[in-house]
Amino acid sequence: MIEFKNVSLTYPNGHQGLKNVNLKLNDGEFIVVVGLSGAGKSTLIRSINQLVKPTEGELIIDGENTLNFKEKQLRQLRTKIGMIFQNYNLVKRTSVLKNVLSGRLGHTGTIRSLLGLYPQEDVKLALESLDRVGIVEKAYIRADQLSGGQQQRVSIARALTQKPKVILADEPVASLDPPTSHIVMKDLKKINREDNITTLVNLHFIDMAMEYADRIIGMRAGEVVFDGPASSVTEKT
Ligand code: ADP
Ligand code: ADP
Repeated sequence: MIEFKNVSLTYPNGHQGLKNVNLKLNDGEFIVVVGLSGAGKSTLIRSINQLVKPTEGELIIDGENTLNFKEKQLRQLRTKIGMIFQNYNLVKRTSVLKNVLSGRLGHTGTIRSLLGLYPQEDVKLALESLDRVGIVEKAYIRADQLSGGQQQRVSIARALTQKPKVILADEPVASLDPPTSHIVMKDLKKINREDNITTLVNLHFIDMAMEYADRIIGMRAGEVVFDGPASSVTEKT
């Protein structure tokens, strides 16, 4: 379980990213975070693996306040958290397979893997992960030759090779057209259900949030202003 206890985050320029956030995120939940641009969605998601670090409060994961973690513990934590970005963050001129294998980097941590020499079982896992998002036939193609939707599925496969407990998807479909967005959301949901991965996704569209989420968190000006099951969201909410 992930618990935010009175978490606030003020950026060095004085912008308030999070304001006194209290949340309990249960294992295996598929959570969609909604709100206008600047509401703090990205800050909320990125604080879980401390890409941005809260300035106040406690962020408890599996019973430990991760805000006290030293660098080594933080690195360990991050190996269990897959991250998906709006712009895929792939190494463009490298094969899909190598991109996916890079999800193993923090796990093996060996010099060999830094040089791109991965154990055979990692290659097998990477190919299986690509298969689960339906693009294993693209394994040996350069990443930048794929469409946006395919690139996002590569980044999901990369997260999968981490064998993550949590997936954080920060605006994963914001650069994609509606049909492709649904393919990506379906992949995220399928993986969430099959592997019981706690999943947080930022979205701009309430319709899509209601279609996929178990739970919707609404944000405004750094505060959580709505938190409930997708079924409780109505025209008036
Ligand atoms: P989004 O609304 O999708 O989060 P933004 O354009 O607000 O996108 O932010 C893009 C990137 O710029 C993010 O990495 C965010 O952390 C950073 N950013 C946003 N606002 C500021 C700011 N005022 N100063 C510095 N960096 C910012
Ligand atoms: P959202 O994801 O909902 O668009 P963000 O979490 O990106 O919102 O931003 C929340 C607030 O924090 C905004 O006022 C934004 O400008 C500010 N902000 C985000 N990232 C940074 C940053 N790196 N430096 C300074 N301010 C930031």
